[in-house]
Amino acid sequence: MSGAERQGFTLSVVAPAYNEMETLSEFHRRLASVLEGIPGVCEIVYVNDGSSDKTIAIMNALRAEDSRVAIVDLSRNFGKEIAMTAGLDHARGDAVIVIDTDLQDPPELIPQLIEEWRNGYDVVYAKRTAREGESALKKATAAAFYRVIQRVSRVRIPEDTGDFRLLSRRAVDALKQLREQHRFMKGLFSWIGFPQKAVLYRREPRFAGAGKFNYWRLWNFALEGITSFTIAPLKVATYVGVIVALVSFFAAAWIVYKTLVFGDSVPGYPSLMVVVLFLGGLQLLFIGVMGEYLGRLFNESKRRPLYFVSGYEPAKSLGPGLLGPGSLPPDQSAARR
Ligand code: UDP
Ligand code: MG
Repeated sequence: MSGAERQGFTLSVVAPAYNEMETLSEFHRRLASVLEGIPGVCEIVYVNDGSSDKTIAIMNALRAEDSRVAIVDLSRNFGKEIAMTAGLDHARGDAVIVIDTDLQDPPELIPQLIEEWRNGYDVVYAKRTAREGESALKKATAAAFYRVIQRVSRVRIPEDTGDFRLLSRRAVDALKQLREQHRFMKGLFSWIGFPQKAVLYRREPRFAGAGKFNYWRLWNFALEGITSFTIAPLKVATYVGVIVALVSFFAAAWIVYKTLVFGDSVPGYPSLMVVVLFLGGLQLLFIGVMGEYLGRLFNESKRRPLYFVSGYEPAKSLGPGLLGPGSLPPDQSAARR
């Protein structure tokens, strides 16, 4: 689609939710009022990511009163990245917006995202100018993470950007072909390429409930980002190994020479311990790095479907059954039968 043709379009809003019963109604109210001003036909794809609270009941109530609501109910909690993927798989629009349901991503930005899409961009991402309600430590760790990943990977991952963005149909179709288990979505969004554009906004603190990210999860997220986009740590292992081996070789030669010429004056216990511990530590560290990659290889090699859907209710606004099993990726059309 060229920019000029993007007039009478259909828009999908994909919103993953995990235990969001306190925010969902307010989110829907704000989103619905924004969508009123949009010229195209809309659907709102709510993905229930195995919530243990009344989230699904609220979704059903919203669908009963709003014909734009579609519901994808996952069989358990799969995590946000996969919930988002499930939403993208089921989205039918010419343009698809991904947004958090905790109101940290302001729905009021949507018209601006659409504006840039109409200007011909395929990926329009919301870039935050201020991080409110986040600790200095979280800000610092996030900054460090982006610095590292920017250095080690060829994929440009925009800083201060969440998952809130608009994707064109061809960008969604490209993304749907990436079926890896380890889904670092921010990386995948960039990896597909196509013209991309940032729109600036201020990120709000969470409306209600607690963020489901803690530092352990954040650390794993960073590890995911780095290991799925670069094998640089494995190369580091090689070089550090070579350097350490060279140094140890000369040190050993020096010790042998010293012993032969001057005799064994001191038992040499300290130097021995230092070398053993240092090399042992280094080896363990890089076995760990290899383990991270090996684990990922293991997970990918199982070729499991990414998720299972226990219920899908299409949006009435787009008419029924347009989305046959054939338009879903192979693993998911099997799951729906
Ligand atoms: N979410 C999800 N599955 C999960 C965790 C979170 O679908 O396992 C959703 C959640 O409902 C929200 C979005 O992902 O809409 C972002 O979650 P959260 O606010 O906890 O993350 P943060 O804002 O810290 O990135
Ligand atoms: Mg949040």
